[in-house]
Amino acid sequence: MRGYRCHKELYLNIHSPELESPITADQQAVFDQGNEVGETARKYFPGGVLVDFKPWDFFGSLKKTRELLASHTPIIYEAAFEYQGCYARTDIIKYSADTQRWKIYEVKSTTKVKEEQLDDIGLQAWIIANSGLPIEEINLVHLNPACRYPNLDNLFTIEDVTAQLRERYPGIGPRVRQLFSIVKTDQVPSIEIGSHCTSPNECRFKAHCWKEKAVPEFSVLDLPKIGEKGWEYFRQGIVSVDDPRIVELTPLQQRVIDVTKTGERFLDVPEIKKELSTWKFPLVFLDFETTNPAIPRYEATGPYMHVPFQFSVHQMKSVESEINHEEFLHVTATDPRPTLIPALLKACEGEGSIVAYYGRFEADRIRDMARVYPDYAVALEALLSRIVDPLPIIREFIYDKEFKGSFSLKAVAPALLGAEQSYDGMLVSNGGEAQRAYQEIINPNTSPQRKEDLIRASLEYCKKDTAVMVDLVKWLLKVVNE
Ligand code: SF4
Repeated sequence: MRGYRCHKELYLNIHSPELESPITADQQAVFDQGNEVGETARKYFPGGVLVDFKPWDFFGSLKKTRELLASHTPIIYEAAFEYQGCYARTDIIKYSADTQRWKIYEVKSTTKVKEEQLDDIGLQAWIIANSGLPIEEINLVHLNPACRYPNLDNLFTIEDVTAQLRERYPGIGPRVRQLFSIVKTDQVPSIEIGSHCTSPNECRFKAHCWKEKAVPEFSVLDLPKIGEKGWEYFRQGIVSVDDPRIVELTPLQQRVIDVTKTGERFLDVPEIKKELSTWKFPLVFLDFETTNPAIPRYEATGPYMHVPFQFSVHQMKSVESEINHEEFLHVTATDPRPTLIPALLKACEGEGSIVAYYGRFEADRIRDMARVYPDYAVALEALLSRIVDPLPIIREFIYDKEFKGSFSLKAVAPALLGAEQSYDGMLVSNGGEAQRAYQEIINPNTSPQRKEDLIRASLEYCKKDTAVMVDLVKWLLKVVNE
């Protein structure tokens, strides 16, 4: 499958694996989630037998699969097949007595079928069919976005992709043979970098290939919303944002280029003043941390729906007044919302504006909770009209060279307020780490000491997010009042 994406990726994976970047914690979390979904799916096909061999134990898995097929086992999980040096393991296969053929079920942790999944299951089906197993039907099993906890009967949607794969089938053999011939040469395939390096996921040779191509830290590819056009420039040898051949830009892209060239910060004070004049004191700075499990585990939530488990609130009566801080972190495996909501309403009491960076996210979480907890709906909905967001103000009216094309709080704050606003060195320093810390905190096997450390680090991280927003807004107010 790596060869399907990029011939060079396959080649390097086999000949130069040392160039591959280690799996990141975020990538590992995605793999773990995929495994959890795969194992859960087996319960929807009960009575099967698992080929319980490690992924690298090809021969053990093949032998066990042959034995299970020979003994007429009707449902097999993780069955292994081999054909001409190609090897595949299939999540679930099920025997159909009527047709005396097998149905293949490949489980994916997405909520819809994706193009690359068809390639994946197509290759598997090609291997299985050529290994001699008669196939009746090929299905992709994915998470059903309409499913709502606690009713998980409809957690999965099964899509029959047999007809779609029939069209692709004749092309699979030649494609596989081409991959084998590439791997057997002693020449690294000459493949240009491109959007395929990051889509559908980040290639683990990216650091190597991009260094080879000398892609600078900030290039035409980093211009806001440049997309495929950035790659068109790149292919023409236009890499630096200084290049005069970069044309037909949006006003924002042009501004990013101008500031990068001159080094002079862009600041539209009258417009910032106009925006801030609509904000109402006392200001309440709000930030949520959320968990979004693939398999829903909280009342009325579906796959990947975000549930807040933590918030930080800073309250600012006036620019000169002392800043109060309130925080909440759920530390057990129960639903966080019944205790989080009253604490949130108390922390956000009053009528002042609620400041949230990319506030749409906080608003959506509040809306979700209002839907699920009707007793709190009126109070929660009242928060929505108070939300104001510094992000569009900064995106429209401020640009600093150090933003390097990004308007995230983590890019903007150190550039405007100084390096001490950086999150570097914190045990929990981003949303993904906060989610993983939460999973560890609620895990009964976590040691008390580790749990304590993680609780402290999580509180520190979320507090930092709102504290940075306070400093940012103070800075904005200072700029407009000078
Ligand atoms: S980084 Fe890009 S070009 Fe390099 S191996 Fe990966 S996908 Fe291919």
